[in-house]
Amino acid sequence: MRAVEVTRPGAGFTLVERPVPGPAAGRVRIAVEACGICHSDVFVRDGTYAGVTYPRVPGHEVVGRIEEVGAGVVAWRPGQRVGVGWHGGHCGVCEACRAGDFILCERGLVCGFSYDGGYAEYLVAPQEALAAVPDALDPIAAAPLLCAGVTTFNALRNSGARAGDLVAVQGIGGLGHLGLQYARKLGFRTVAVSRGADKRALALELGAHEYVDQETGDAAAALQALGGARVILATAPNAQVMSGLVGGLGRNGALLVLGATADPIQVTPFQLIGGRRRIQGWPSGTAKDSEETLAFSALNAVASRNEVFPLAEVNEAFERMMTNRARFRVVLQVRG
Ligand SMILES: [Zn+2]
Ligand SMILES: [Zn+2]
Repeated sequence: MRAVEVTRPGAGFTLVERPVPGPAAGRVRIAVEACGICHSDVFVRDGTYAGVTYPRVPGHEVVGRIEEVGAGVVAWRPGQRVGVGWHGGHCGVCEACRAGDFILCERGLVCGFSYDGGYAEYLVAPQEALAAVPDALDPIAAAPLLCAGVTTFNALRNSGARAGDLVAVQGIGGLGHLGLQYARKLGFRTVAVSRGADKRALALELGAHEYVDQETGDAAAALQALGGARVILATAPNAQVMSGLVGGLGRNGALLVLGATADPIQVTPFQLIGGRRRIQGWPSGTAKDSEETLAFSALNAVASRNEVFPLAEVNEAFERMMTNRARFRVVLQVRG
C-alpha cells in the first residue's frame, strides 16, 4: 500500500510502499477514503509529542470502510463506513476508564501517534476507537469532523450553556468556522470574535448573530455590552488573546480553552470570584462523541469547508495548513 510516513523526527513526510497490515485481535483493518490534516500532526512530524516511536504514519481524522475484522470484534463488520479521530483507544481498567471517562484514559491511544494513522491506504484501529459515519456524509465532508468537529461540538454541548444563552466563538479558522455553526445550530445567541472587518460577512454566513472585531476595540467590553458571555470558545492558540477575553464573561461564564499553546493565560482572582467565572480546557471526545458529532452535523447541515489534496501532495497540503492559508480544513483524498 501507499503510505505517508515520518521516518524520524524532523525528516518531513515521505511517500513509501508498505505491506497491507492485517488486523490483530480486537482491531479492524480500514480501507481509508479520506484523512483530514490537523495542526496537531505537526507534533508527529517534529517529534515533540512524548512517546511517539518512528517511523510513524500520522492522521487522526480518518474515514474509510472496514475491510477485515480481527478475532473478538463483535460490534463491527466488513463494509461498514467508519471514522477514527483523536481518541484512538482506551484501556478500560484505569481510574478514568472505570469512571467511564475514556478520553482521559491513562493508557489512551491516539490514532496516528500511538499507532499508524490515516495518511495511508489502510490502517488498523482498535474496535473501541470506531465511530459510525452516516451515509449522508461523504468521506471528505466527514473527515475534519473527527477532530475539529468533535472538539468544538463536544465542548459546546457539555459547557452548561442553554438555548438562548450568549456563546462567543473566538477565531474563525479550522476550529472556529465549525464552532460558529454548532453554536448557532445548538440554539445559542452566537457571537463571532475575530480580527478585521473583512471577517464579518463570513462570520454571519457561518451562523453568527453578531460580530465583534478585535481590531477596532476591546472584545471583552463588547461582549459585556451584549450582556456577558455564558461561554467563550477560545479556538485560536493565542494565550494573550485568551487572557483578554476573560473580562467578557458574564455570570457563571466559562472560557473554554481549545487552542493549544504552551504560553500562560493571565487572569486575576477578582475576575473569576465575583461572577463565579471559570476557565476550563476541553480535550476532543471519544469515538461515541465523534459518532454523535457526525450524526448532528448530517442532521443540521453543519459542514466543514475543505481544501482537498491527493495523498502524494501531502507536503503542499500540510504547508497550506501550517501557513494558515487553508480555508478552512485540509483533507487528503486517499481513494475515489
Ligand atoms: Zn486533531
Ligand atoms: Zn484507561
